[in-house]
Amino acid sequence: MDLFEYQGKELLRKFEVPVPEGRVAETPEDAAEAAKGLGGKVVVKAQVQVGGRGKAGGIKLANSPEEAQQVANDILGMDIKGHVVKRVLVERAGDIKAEYYFSFLLDRSARKFLGMMSAKGGVDIEEVAETDPDAIARVHIDPLAGISDFHARRLVFGSRIDEAARKEAIAMIPKLYRAFVELDASLVEINPMVLTGEGRVMALDAKVSLDDSAAFRHPNFDDLKAAHDIPEQERFAKERGLNFIKLEGDVGIIGNGAGLVMSTLDVVKAAGGDPANFLDVGGGAGAELLASAIEVITSNPEVKSVLVNIFGGITRCDLVAEGILSALEKLDVKVPIVVRLDGTNAEQGRKMLADAPHPMLMSAETMLGAAEKAVELAHGGGR
Ligand code: GDP
Ligand code: MN
Repeated sequence: MDLFEYQGKELLRKFEVPVPEGRVAETPEDAAEAAKGLGGKVVVKAQVQVGGRGKAGGIKLANSPEEAQQVANDILGMDIKGHVVKRVLVERAGDIKAEYYFSFLLDRSARKFLGMMSAKGGVDIEEVAETDPDAIARVHIDPLAGISDFHARRLVFGSRIDEAARKEAIAMIPKLYRAFVELDASLVEINPMVLTGEGRVMALDAKVSLDDSAAFRHPNFDDLKAAHDIPEQERFAKERGLNFIKLEGDVGIIGNGAGLVMSTLDVVKAAGGDPANFLDVGGGAGAELLASAIEVITSNPEVKSVLVNIFGGITRCDLVAEGILSALEKLDVKVPIVVRLDGTNAEQGRKMLADAPHPMLMSAETMLGAAEKAVELAHGGGR
């Protein structure tokens, strides 16, 4: 789970990482109130999970509570790269002498943690990596041995940040490391880490990603998640016990078993199409679950055709057919559904579908044939 900036900063504060004082606001009035409490100059920052907020107009300075109210009014509701701003973070603004980049992440191929630091901060690090790779200092840390002072010093001296910032940065790095490890984070990225006019070093931005698999070790995980909007379609799927992930294509996919669904995605790709989702109804799926699956998938307006690929083991194909038919009865399905049934009671299932002809329903014998048909239909081909 990727956290919002304000959530990341709240957590970092618990590990004594210096972050600017700030408050979250959901209305312009709250933002004014927050600015009043912070006194003087503030910065109002859109809380959306996308980088480049500054360039998009989602970060603005304000010199008074009235101004804070005004800029919050501009920023709240703004659409930044498809993310609508529902909250702003109002922070005490300091003057910035220099901006650096810092991160801890998991380097899977090295089986170690990786610390990265650069004097070129505040900009896209991917760009720095491409144009000036030597500007980034990299240090691996063995998770069993943990961090030592020399790691922090190698990052700080290797990145050639300003001398005035070195001492505080060296003190801050072990705190960031502790936060990274104890939170079970997969990423803690501070861009920019800044040197202020008063000579302090602070985390001005925070991008923290927590490992969902470690959620059980963190009682606050659900609270953090509650601030995130789960898309309508995903919530609906979850309520019905469906294993659903939205993708960007237009061919809706339903299958049973994660492996089969993944290969179905591959086959759709191979047939020249783009899957709209991953959806696994699981083993032993009955009619009702199938109907829910079709409902979830066809609620996505991008979907132009649906491919149902079922291999009956524990799952009985006759029950799957029953589910498809009941979904078609209940829902006003406007896109074609291509069904491939194989395995337990497949023949019976196919016969049920053939006996109840529906303009939107067709069968296919093989997985590849079904995928090709679904892709053709999604692209506006005839049937
Ligand atoms: P991002 O663009 O979404 O990564 O947002 P950041 O939080 O990294 O902010 C982008 C830029 O806005 C920073 O690199 C700073 O230059 C500027 N900025 C952010 N907070 C402050 C602040 O408190 N004071 C000043 N003067 N500038 C800020
Ligand atoms: Mn940033």
